[in-house]
Order: sequence, then C-alpha cells, then structure tokens
Amino acid sequence: KITKADKAMGKLESQKRFKGDEDRRVGSEIFDKSTLETLYKLGKQGYLDLLNGAISTGKEANVLKGLDDDGSFIAVKIYRITTSDFKKMQYYIQGDPRFKISSNNKRQLVHAWVNKEFRNLKRLYEAKVNVPKPIAALNNVLLIEFIGDEDGDPAQPTKNKAPLNPEDFFQKLLFEWKNFIFQGKLIHGDLSTYNILNYKEYPVIIDVSQAVVLDHIIAPELLKRDITNLTKEFKHLGLDIDEDYVKDAINF
Ligand code: ADP
Ligand code: MN
Repeated sequence: KITKADKAMGKLESQKRFKGDEDRRVGSEIFDKSTLETLYKLGKQGYLDLLNGAISTGKEANVLKGLDDDGSFIAVKIYRITTSDFKKMQYYIQGDPRFKISSNNKRQLVHAWVNKEFRNLKRLYEAKVNVPKPIAALNNVLLIEFIGDEDGDPAQPTKNKAPLNPEDFFQKLLFEWKNFIFQGKLIHGDLSTYNILNYKEYPVIIDVSQAVVLDHIIAPELLKRDITNLTKEFKHLGLDIDEDYVKDAINF
C-alpha cells in the first residue's frame, strides 16, 4: 500500500527537489519501512505534510526540511537505527532518573534517545532558553521548529558562519548558556560552534539529545568539556579569554 510518506518521497524525487549528492544520499538511506510509517503517522496526526529537502547528514541523524499542515517550515530530525552509537546512548541515559532503560534493544534505545532530546528541548524551551521549539517526537523522528528565513534557508552553524562581532555574540551565548544550566537545569555536553546556530547574529543552541540533568553523575565532566571546547573555539574567533574566565562568566 502506498502511504502518504511514500507519496511525499515520490513527489520529492519526481520534482527533483533533491539536487545535490547529499540529498540523493538522504533519499536512499534513511527511509526504511518503519521510518516511513513513523513519518506517515506524524502526517496523519497533523504535524507534517511534506518533506522537501535535506539540511544536514550527520553521523547518526539526518535533518530534513519539512512543511507542516499550515505550510510553515519545520525541521525533521531522523535518527538512523543502524548507525547509532548505542554505547554512547547507554552511557548518557543510564543514571538519568527520567529514563528507565532495562532493555538492550537497539531500536528502543534510539527511541528513548529521541524522546530524551524532545524532553530536554521542552524543558529548555519552557525555561526560555533560545532553542528550537519542540513539536513532536515519535520513534526515531523528532520534529522541531525550523530556524531560518521565510524562504526556507536554514540558519548556519556558527562554525560555518562566524559572528560579525564575536565579543557581542559570545556575551549573548553566555546569557543563553547560563539559562540553559540554571533555568533549564541541564548540561549540554556537546556544546560547540557546530551546535550553536548563528541566526541573525543571535545564538540558537541545538542538538540536546546528550544533555543531562545537573545531578547526573557525568554532569561535571560534561560541563568541563563544554567550557574547554567553547573557550578554544571563541579564542580562535579572536576573543581574549581563558577557561577560568568562562567558568566565572557562567557562575561556576
Ligand atoms: P547531529 O549533529 O546529531 O547530526 P544536529 O541536531 O546538530 O544533529 O543537526 C545537524 C544540523 O542540522 C545542524 O548543524 C544544523 O545545520 C541543522 N539543523 C538542526 N536543527 C535545525 C533547525 N531546527 N533549524 C534549522 N537547521 C537545523
Ligand atoms: Mn550537531
């Protein structure tokens, strides 16, 4: 039987919206039967009408652009079960009181991982941190607010789009990061200029699947890593800072 998601994919391919190699790779790799079913269900629930293009192909997930029923863009993050790093997922999930994972079923672990990203985003969004608004999570698919312009051009990671004024951008980032930690009560754990979008010269923090609650046993280690990485990256962008400065700036 042909589902709406199948049709959407057919439409995509026939309309040749998938132009680059990246796009073609996405088309063949991620739409296994169960992912198509999940996309179809999200369509039926009114969250997603059509997929129309790839934004990013990462190690574990693909991010696509979609349209919702109102014709607004949304970001569709699809985790591939086969290439997921289960060891990493287990490491971050265990010890998080919000998740009781007893099984070592890989598919279930990925589903919990997606659910974790959704819940982290929700918590951060409610704490008024500048993150994409979470829309829905089902199985290995996460729907979130699309960050980009009205024409559908996605915001670029700060890694690829250096801020015009790095000092100013870093101060805004510190403000968001403090809220992330003290209002959202989470440690990101993979904070880098790859996971900070530069949207009209304001930082939007993304990719929060691995973020852990403050009292998680690995929280201190993750925070230290975030501080080290961001210090290095913003020094590289021309700031005169060191780790102690950053630690102080976020009140740690
Ligand atoms: P991963 O790094 O695990 O592949 P991310 O969540 O970091 O997944 O997303 C990968 C890339 O997709 C980002 O670097 C960004 O370019 C793009 N992206 C992710 N979320 C959005 C969004 N909400 N709006 C626009 N682009 C996004
Ligand atoms: Mn990322």
